[in-house]
Amino acid sequence: LRELTGAEDALVVNNCAGATLLALSAVVAEAVAGASGEPEVIVSRGQLIEIGGGFRIPEVLALSGARLHEVGTTNRTRLSDYERAINENTRAILWVHPSNFEIQGFTESVGVAELSALGPPVVADVGSGALFGIGDEPRVEAVVAEGASLVTFSGDKLLGGPQAGMAVGGSYWISAMRRHPLARALRADKLCLAALEATLASYLEGTAREELPTSKMLHAPVEEMKEKADYLAGKIGRAAPNLAVDVAPSIARSGGGTLPLYEVPSYAVRLESSSGSAEALAEK
Ligand SMILES: *Cc1c(COP(=O)(O)O)cnc(C)c1O
Repeated sequence: LRELTGAEDALVVNNCAGATLLALSAVVAEAVAGASGEPEVIVSRGQLIEIGGGFRIPEVLALSGARLHEVGTTNRTRLSDYERAINENTRAILWVHPSNFEIQGFTESVGVAELSALGPPVVADVGSGALFGIGDEPRVEAVVAEGASLVTFSGDKLLGGPQAGMAVGGSYWISAMRRHPLARALRADKLCLAALEATLASYLEGTAREELPTSKMLHAPVEEMKEKADYLAGKIGRAAPNLAVDVAPSIARSGGGTLPLYEVPSYAVRLESSSGSAEALAEK
């Protein structure tokens, strides 16, 4: 992970939700000279998101023991909003990639590089963990280079590995995470580590794009998808001669809480149901 992301150190836990909870808990637990009040973590109102399965940033922050210090508005947050919010109880600035939706139009947000220059450690939850550039997903290596103290990401989204959560960043903060009591509770199991090792080796060897199923599917040539659709339509046509079946161009989505607007050109098998009901067709 160090080699692939350029970070000083790395820690693997059971999933990215766990990595983010542990990162925030470790940062909040760190003793800070001169701090007397409740520890605070600053976050933009545009990044108070829900990933799914009840993983909501405000609730994770509350669990970590930090008071949420919201800045900016839903669509616009400026550097000066963060600057004004920093005080002696600030333990971190949290930057979250809004993985599964996009706000478009009159928007403004502040990147990790600018936040990292402000002083408090920046915890960047990038979600997908893209190691290659795809769509406008933040690349882990780039976010590390922008100066985030900790970057957390998932093992089983764009990375294409097992369910796991990674934290990479400065060795001071990674060891704070390792020492935290939650680290053991969120530990990744041996099967996960074995699968993750194989996945990461494939990146190091430069074969990930052709070898890992997630990447292979996202980059499948549209002609190949047409061949598959033709094959499937042929089989269905022979098995159910009364069903009208054809093949049509379509747009596929990555799903899995990543690349919400990214379009993958594809082909679909189209079936016409005599009853007009998709449910009845699915049952058959
Ligand atoms: C998906 C996601 C998570 C949760 O990742 P899991 O590995 O599924 O736990 C956390 N934060 C962000 C920004 C995400 O996109």
